[in-house]
Amino acid sequence: MGNGCIEFRQRVSVDGYRWEKIYVPRFARHVLGLFEGGRSPLGDMDSDSPEYWAILDEMWDQADSQAETHREYAPEDVPDLYRAFANTAISQDGVLEFAGRYGLLGVGETIPVEEETNPDGSIWREYGRVEYAHEWKRQILLMRGCVEILDLADDPFRPDAIALSKIFTRRGGRWHVRSAYMPGYRGQGKIEHIDLEIWSDDPHSFASIGHDDVLSVATEFLRIVADRQLSGTTTASVVRDGDSGTLSLVYRPTSLLGAMWLQFAKVMTHTDNTRACLECGRTFEFQRRTRLFCGEACQKKFNRKKIRTSRKSGVISET
Ligand SMILES: [Zn+2]
Repeated sequence: MGNGCIEFRQRVSVDGYRWEKIYVPRFARHVLGLFEGGRSPLGDMDSDSPEYWAILDEMWDQADSQAETHREYAPEDVPDLYRAFANTAISQDGVLEFAGRYGLLGVGETIPVEEETNPDGSIWREYGRVEYAHEWKRQILLMRGCVEILDLADDPFRPDAIALSKIFTRRGGRWHVRSAYMPGYRGQGKIEHIDLEIWSDDPHSFASIGHDDVLSVATEFLRIVADRQLSGTTTASVVRDGDSGTLSLVYRPTSLLGAMWLQFAKVMTHTDNTRACLECGRTFEFQRRTRLFCGEACQKKFNRKKIRTSRKSGVISET
């Protein structure tokens, strides 16, 4: 177990997930929620039958023992999982597809989804885990925006300051971000540009950045978002290996969302020195940050293509 490794296994319901509209007293309205598992197969049975309750209890016990109701995987082993999440279509089908493959985000709550009176007068409740559609939307948009900014700021060839200046602007002598990059944020009302000095809670973090240094603004924005997303979704432990006695640092995300933001943070801080090859897309480990290809073959292939395109467009003359 190396330092800085991640310990987290995500459970995915083998029955998949389903959307349902539920009444949420907190919102005082019906809200679309994502539930774990298929519908209860006992739903149509006669609730007065004594056998019904016996079968139900048995089923309930089985569910508790996790008998093949879930499969597990390690999100860390899925390269660029945070990008798959960022690219998830914001639709009922898009979310179902992502959740069916990678599981719930861990932003939900457990609520009673069914309630019946037992023959003896006691109340039977079935609980389900629910994650609200609007929360999924907010989380996808936040990750999508941050990935876009990361790619613009951390482009291996050259950061794209012009594109970044369309996202981060100076207004009244202070740095602002377009509100689309802060989905669900209502701290400053319904406005299109959010004052980053107020949002950051730290008067120095943006005020000290020069008026033409949009790259530093973008980096600071990503730092704060990643930091906030990690807090509460990821913990860390120092563990001792039983046999060798060596100590190591282990990150423990408490949810899929935490695991994905940890992956994002590792890429952002270059803790994770793997990258997708610019030519073939295969993930490789690099020693030098400037390395962009998995091997010489891909680099040559990429360069040949580049020369061909520039010849055609006539932009660069051959030397
Ligand atoms: Zn390659």
